[in-house]
Amino acid sequence: MSKVSSVTVAKFGGTSLKNYQSMVRCANIVIEEPSIKVVVLSASAGVTNLLVELTAKDVSDAIASTLIDNIKNIQLDISAGLFEQKQIEQNRVNGYVLNLVHELEYASQMLREQFSLKLVDEILSFGERFSSYLFTEIMTELLSNVDDKPQLVRFDARRIIKTDSRFGHARPDLTAIKQQSQLSLNLPECLYITQGFVGEDSFGNTTTLGRGGSDFSAALIAEAINADKLQIWTDVAGIYSSDPRFVTTAKPIKALSFNEAAELATFGAKVLHPATLLPAIRSQIDVFVGSSLEPSAGGTHLTTKPSTSGVRAIALRENQTLVTLSSPNMLLASGFLARVFAILAKYELSVDLITTSEISVALTFDNINGVSEGILPQECITELEDFCAVSIEGELSLVAVIGNHNPDHETISSTELLFKSLGDYQIRMICHGASRHNVCFLVKQSIAKNVVTNIHDQIFG
Ligand code: ADP
Ligand code: ASP
Ligand code: MG
Repeated sequence: MSKVSSVTVAKFGGTSLKNYQSMVRCANIVIEEPSIKVVVLSASAGVTNLLVELTAKDVSDAIASTLIDNIKNIQLDISAGLFEQKQIEQNRVNGYVLNLVHELEYASQMLREQFSLKLVDEILSFGERFSSYLFTEIMTELLSNVDDKPQLVRFDARRIIKTDSRFGHARPDLTAIKQQSQLSLNLPECLYITQGFVGEDSFGNTTTLGRGGSDFSAALIAEAINADKLQIWTDVAGIYSSDPRFVTTAKPIKALSFNEAAELATFGAKVLHPATLLPAIRSQIDVFVGSSLEPSAGGTHLTTKPSTSGVRAIALRENQTLVTLSSPNMLLASGFLARVFAILAKYELSVDLITTSEISVALTFDNINGVSEGILPQECITELEDFCAVSIEGELSLVAVIGNHNPDHETISSTELLFKSLGDYQIRMICHGASRHNVCFLVKQSIAKNVVTNIHDQIFG
């Protein structure tokens, strides 16, 4: 597909699609920007969380029915806003929604009879299927009196987002995505509306890209169609110097380098899914992050230009597990780490941070389910215990100070400010030096937000 004149992919997150009014706001952003040719949508806020609860192994029939009712009501409320005056139209839209609800009930019943990760992903995909249907109806209604309107097409993301079969965190097949996009999308003639987060493996099973994965879907599509711009519309006016939900003094950052933004996302800034920037960096796509609640407030532009030296932002990632492996045999011995990592690789465990001393190594793991006891499978612990003592600590948070730590050019050292601001806290582990873009440390989860706020205020003063 050749590069068509200025094509933008716009992604709207769940917080931007939580009800009828919010969806109208997003639809107007699309209508006012003719370069937007693909719209990628998350599920309405809260719906994926309800679906995750629905897929819990121990969910009872009664709880499942309440969860499905809650999901249904979120969709019917949006549809009620849509055709307040037109009963026939509303019946048509509700009919479609209720059909999807029946499909969801059936899938949930099957899952309770026989649990499978394949069916879990099928169920998780419903949130985006609901929102993309309702959003298309809203766009159609808003465009009904416009003469020169684009041709709207809602399409199933599973036709192009081809992945492997790792249910829950599927990996994209970039070649297939490019091929399918070229075959399926007629650009720039049509305006497409599709689902984020959802994909399909080579056997035709529905897969998902991991929580928050709609950002990643949008970036993958932008790359596949050679788009010029990727817009991520969320509930905050760009990337801030820290999470504005709890650091009240956090400020929006106008321009950030891809590297810094990627580090921020990796270390927990929920505003971007960590993988989002890989396609954008590879294919040099401009990325903008802004607020659908306040589109005129501006936002953050990501650029390839390196930023000036100094701290740019502070991220927090909760639910971390620290695993310490110690063995006196490690003293002056070689091959210990190789043995440890061979075992971790066998169980497909991915390590985030690592520090070593003479006789021990400490590793951190992201604990998405919040249960640190289960982070290492028992068989893995048994294999490690063959040659070292294993201790596991949970309820920790990872704080990452992101920026350009250039030891040669720092004025008053931000590292000095950072260490000063940490004076009163107990630090469990610290990593500095492997990357110029971050200094990371672990603290108890109970004090983590205080630590972040304190460092933020010391550094940005
Ligand atoms: P969406 O539904 O649009 O995908 P998310 O909840 O996934 O939205 O991401 C937006 C949220 O990310 C913000 O409301 C904010 O609380 C959080 N966040 C964390 N760190 C940052 C940061 N550095 N800058 C902006 N937002 C951040
Ligand atoms: N709906 C999915 C989630 O809540 C994906 C996304 O919103 O990006 O994780
Ligand atoms: Mg998100």
